[in-house]
Amino acid sequence: MKIEEKIDEKALPFLRKFMRDLESPREVRRFGSGWLSGFFALLLAIGALLLVVALRFPDWFATPELEIVKEWGGFRAVVHAILLASYALSLLSLLLRPRKGLGMVALMIGLGAALLGGANVQPEETQSWGVFFGLDFFIVNLLATGFMFAPLERFKPHRREQRLFRNEWREDLFYFLVSTMFVQILAFLTLAPSTFINDNTSSWDAFRAGVASLPWIVQFVIVLIVSDFAQYWYHRLFHKVPFLWSFHAIHHSAKSMDWLAGSRMHIIELIVLRCVTSLPLFTLGFAPSVMQAYLGFIYVWSSLLHANVGGNFNQLGHWIATPRFHHWHHGLEDEAFDVNFAIHFPWIDKLFGTFHLPEDRWPKDYGIPEDVPRNYTGQFFYPLTSTGKKIESEE
Ligand SMILES: [Zn+2]
Ligand SMILES: [Zn+2]
Repeated sequence: MKIEEKIDEKALPFLRKFMRDLESPREVRRFGSGWLSGFFALLLAIGALLLVVALRFPDWFATPELEIVKEWGGFRAVVHAILLASYALSLLSLLLRPRKGLGMVALMIGLGAALLGGANVQPEETQSWGVFFGLDFFIVNLLATGFMFAPLERFKPHRREQRLFRNEWREDLFYFLVSTMFVQILAFLTLAPSTFINDNTSSWDAFRAGVASLPWIVQFVIVLIVSDFAQYWYHRLFHKVPFLWSFHAIHHSAKSMDWLAGSRMHIIELIVLRCVTSLPLFTLGFAPSVMQAYLGFIYVWSSLLHANVGGNFNQLGHWIATPRFHHWHHGLEDEAFDVNFAIHFPWIDKLFGTFHLPEDRWPKDYGIPEDVPRNYTGQFFYPLTSTGKKIESEE
């Protein structure tokens, strides 16, 4: 007897949908249909949930054998990896699969595990909020930025005719997932080199102590300025060197600008970018809370710069980056070629002669002349297949 028949006729339609999806006939389960990813997402999510429950309620699972495993230092990293894998697979399934039951249930179970505390969970008595880590971070991030910008784009759009679910929104949502997950991996990646640098440059300790003693907000502003200088030259280099441009071309391939479009960035460029901008900051003595605030701020800021939000801000746009300022960086026309590299402070572009903000005008079209593949995999391999040559616009 099929499980589906065991469920009461009046059962939640959602549950029935899920069961039907789980029991799909073999021909719709083929590789690439999203069934396998959904199925393994579900399996991993359930596994992660059980592990988190075991960590959270130690009395329920007080067998000595399990104690040894739980005390092993890598255990939490494994739980975290399982959570991340389940969360990536369920999103993959949601992307690939017209039926969403399987992917949605896996995602919800994974979210449940994350809300119980995820890999950072503390035993119930000494509970602390380790929530912002893993799947939860993606969901919180997506909801926070979505709730901030989707209404703003409706309320004050630059292009009124552009829809919320415009072309290629799925691809960009996938980029959003990848970059959100990456923020957490980054914490691990930059930790080792920054600890090494900090340990081997003890002569700078007085300098670091000086930085750490500055008021929080002053530290934050310095972080914005220092990282934007680093980012400016990094960004300019990616426009200049043909091989690097083949990576950065992905970011510029977006033909519609909205809050999600800014997430589109080749993973290699993203890794190098975050390392280039974060490593100096991690080693200059800034308070960890300043760095965390900066990493969170970057998401909101980048969404704002790419958002389909109007307003000319002719004066303000000379000092603080506005959507119109960054939209010119994405413009297809000749005058938009290699301008506005800064992401916080347009005066850095003024300083180095790349500033472009004609009064009251916006670019007519967005994108680049090159043909960039439209899907994630194609874009991932694009730097290997492209000639790396930037097509110069006709003068
Ligand atoms: Zn660029
Ligand atoms: Zn951009």
